[in-house]
Amino acid sequence: MPEAAVQKPERPAPLVALTDDESLFRDNVRQFAEEKVRPLVREMDEKGVFDPSLIRQFFELGLMSVEIPEQYGGGGGSFFEAILAVEELSRVDASAGVVVDVQNTLVNNAILRWATDDQKRRYLPRLAADTVGAYALSEAGSGSDAFALQTRAQQRGSDYVLHGRKLWITNGKEAGLFILFATVDPAAGYKGITAFLIERDFPGFSVGKKEDKLGIRASSTCELILEECKVPKENVLGEVGKGYKIAIETLNEGRIGIGAQMLGVARGAWEYAMKYAQERKQFGKPVAEFQGVQFQLAHMATEIEAARMMVYNAARMKDAGLDFVKEAAMTKLFASEVAERVTSMAVEIYGGYGFTKDYPVEKYWRDSKIGKIYEGTSNMQLQTIAKLVIK
Ligand SMILES: Cc1cc2nc3c(=O)[nH]c(=O)nc-3n(C[C@H](O)[C@H](O)[C@H](O)COP(=O)(O)OP(=O)(O)OC[C@H]3O[C@@H](n4cnc5c(N)ncnc54)[C@H](O)[C@@H]3O)c2cc1C
Repeated sequence: MPEAAVQKPERPAPLVALTDDESLFRDNVRQFAEEKVRPLVREMDEKGVFDPSLIRQFFELGLMSVEIPEQYGGGGGSFFEAILAVEELSRVDASAGVVVDVQNTLVNNAILRWATDDQKRRYLPRLAADTVGAYALSEAGSGSDAFALQTRAQQRGSDYVLHGRKLWITNGKEAGLFILFATVDPAAGYKGITAFLIERDFPGFSVGKKEDKLGIRASSTCELILEECKVPKENVLGEVGKGYKIAIETLNEGRIGIGAQMLGVARGAWEYAMKYAQERKQFGKPVAEFQGVQFQLAHMATEIEAARMMVYNAARMKDAGLDFVKEAAMTKLFASEVAERVTSMAVEIYGGYGFTKDYPVEKYWRDSKIGKIYEGTSNMQLQTIAKLVIK
């Protein structure tokens, strides 16, 4: 039979396949990360400060508004593209990755999904142009048990008045808009939790101490203080008492973003280790010529590939409108384990030099640690996965 006459069944593309637009987007972010972010990484890590000029460039390049529709000034792109941006930035600097990750996968996402038309008109153009967003759920006493939060919101006339403190809020130093969770009725348990859109200059709102951290040091992590903070009732996001749903569902998407961040971190460290192993000579030849080192590099590459499949698949599932909760939890759990193992091995491949700050790999190792902690610790991911797989 002539070949053209054979009816080939349509087959799904490999998980690593990108469209032309996605490849172009990824290449642009990669080039930007190399040229503009890489030269600043060490100083930002040492000082624990994110360079404001980079944030301006993130906005100019559309990295802070990947999925925001064009009518609001955003890129009108996909969740998958946002994930590619987080991966590529994190390959160079995990702090750069998380600034963009929180904006896209938590803040923009929640507003696109839950905001009223009026809220979208008020906030999406700003989030696309120049306003960094933050997502404030955790408190000193409520992390894994997030719905035990104590921040209180009481309705007074046309406002809600909020009292309490939030802890660990990423982008806290730079943010102009906060999605903040408080309870309107502590007796109602999780059914009292409500999400609010809070602008930085609302009366009674202030940003407190910034944490001095082990890793992602340039990313700001801050306390938020609410004392008689007045929030107009038009700034309730979603329904009163349904904030728990917004929190859970937004974090499900966010976890794919953290998977992408950890994938980028692992790739960045692996690339350094691979190059160094070819340059460093012992016993008269590059250490990469020893099978023991080759096997270490091969193992690291295999783990990275597996993590990439999980991240890409979960992101594609989200874009396809499929249920991705289990896959997102598995992705974050696995990619953060891979990042920790790969970056640790990269330090070892550098030998003693890897243990010093003169070489880049120790930072990757420090940066990898957060993957198992934020947006739900590894135990919390396991709890979700167990619930979904054990019938
Ligand atoms: C750098 C950084 C940035 C962050 N950014 C944000 C942010 O932007 N917004 C935000 O809201 N929060 C943020 N967080 C907070 C983060 O999400 C919490 O730290 C995390 O959810 C863990 O909570 P916890 O620190 O209170 O730990 P705990 O909940 O006190 O957990 C302590 C240990 O107990 C384990 N554990 C707890 N409960 C169980 C259980 N039921 N079963 C088994 N093990 C359990 C945990 O796995 C962990 O090992 C950030 C944190 C950090 C460090």
